[in-house]
Amino acid sequence: MTAISADERGFGIYVHWPFCRAKCPYCDFNSHVREAIDQRRWRDALLKELAHYAEQTPGRTVTSLFFGGGTPSLMEPETTAAVIDAVRRHWTVTPDLEITLEANPTSVEIERFRGFRDAGVNRVSIGVQALDDTVLKFLGRQHSAGEAIRALEIGRATFPRLSFDLIYARPGQSLEAWQNELAAALDLANSHISLYQLTIEPGTAFEQRVARGDFVTLPEEEQATLFDWTASRLERAGLPAYEVSNHARPGEESRHNLTYWRYGDYVGVGPGAHGRLTLGGTKFATRQHRAPEAWLDAVERDGHATRQRDEVAQAARLTEMVMMGLRLAEGIPAARFRAESGSEIEGALDAQRLKRMVEGGFLVQENDRLRATNDGRARLDAVLGALLA
Ligand code: SF4
Repeated sequence: MTAISADERGFGIYVHWPFCRAKCPYCDFNSHVREAIDQRRWRDALLKELAHYAEQTPGRTVTSLFFGGGTPSLMEPETTAAVIDAVRRHWTVTPDLEITLEANPTSVEIERFRGFRDAGVNRVSIGVQALDDTVLKFLGRQHSAGEAIRALEIGRATFPRLSFDLIYARPGQSLEAWQNELAAALDLANSHISLYQLTIEPGTAFEQRVARGDFVTLPEEEQATLFDWTASRLERAGLPAYEVSNHARPGEESRHNLTYWRYGDYVGVGPGAHGRLTLGGTKFATRQHRAPEAWLDAVERDGHATRQRDEVAQAARLTEMVMMGLRLAEGIPAARFRAESGSEIEGALDAQRLKRMVEGGFLVQENDRLRATNDGRARLDAVLGALLA
């Protein structure tokens, strides 16, 4: 029944570095601030956990390696080099292995760019977030707009591929202000840019500040206007949205993230990292200890810090695959439905719900695949709720 093998969707390795200089008030990632970090201990532990997962995944070919966080540009380049070497030792890798590192644009980190490149990093993703110092302060960022621009210039000269992130739909942001900021960003952009709408996540400092009435979020209709305008502006600039928040020139998409969205397999090492592994036809969800010190102790004791390793039941596989795949402009091929659920699109999903979403103009079924329209991707949470509930 399997018409698409997991390998055709890529096989990625994700490495989580959980430390940041300061906690941004909107951030709900697994990121922590520590006075001092024993880089040697951390490096040895990451290498141990990689070896553990390599043993479980013999014969796989790695297509991408991604250093995320946290702020992995705070790793010493030697640590990055050791991880890259270990991946190359443990697995076969594709000749054009994509190696991405997330970086923040402070001057200390910019100084390390050459070290990361020499270690083997060939793609950098820079957390610019805004090009205005007042806004950067509001977002709790540790860099200025000038530093961000310098990081982009040096990043472009150092790495073969570069992407950067911006946060928009901020409190009080007008369409005109966003148009000006995005025009400046596009002048600095290469072939990939990620544009995220500000969301207030539970447990963050921003959640408390909104509850206190310090600021109000942008009304939903204004957010939708900004989203729609952004999609058409980036399309005109030659970087169409290949995913809800990600824009690239064709061929310049993040291969690592495509593996997630295509519901391929990936190993996750480091605190709180998630993985999805198909072993003997069964899909497993893995999750590592979240707290940095608990992770470190467990790896040093047991060789890994796997907190959860559960089989993903068939219904959950279908749900996860649809939730990921409809984020992509390319949608989900019917063959992937057959591979994950053993059914055609119509058999896998509730026929009435599917029909309603197609008639409403949110989903399209054509060319042997199911995809969300632009309207559907603009309100994907509601579409998924209606389709899968
Ligand atoms: S730098 Fe990134 S990971 Fe760290 S706190 Fe800020 S948003 Fe979160």
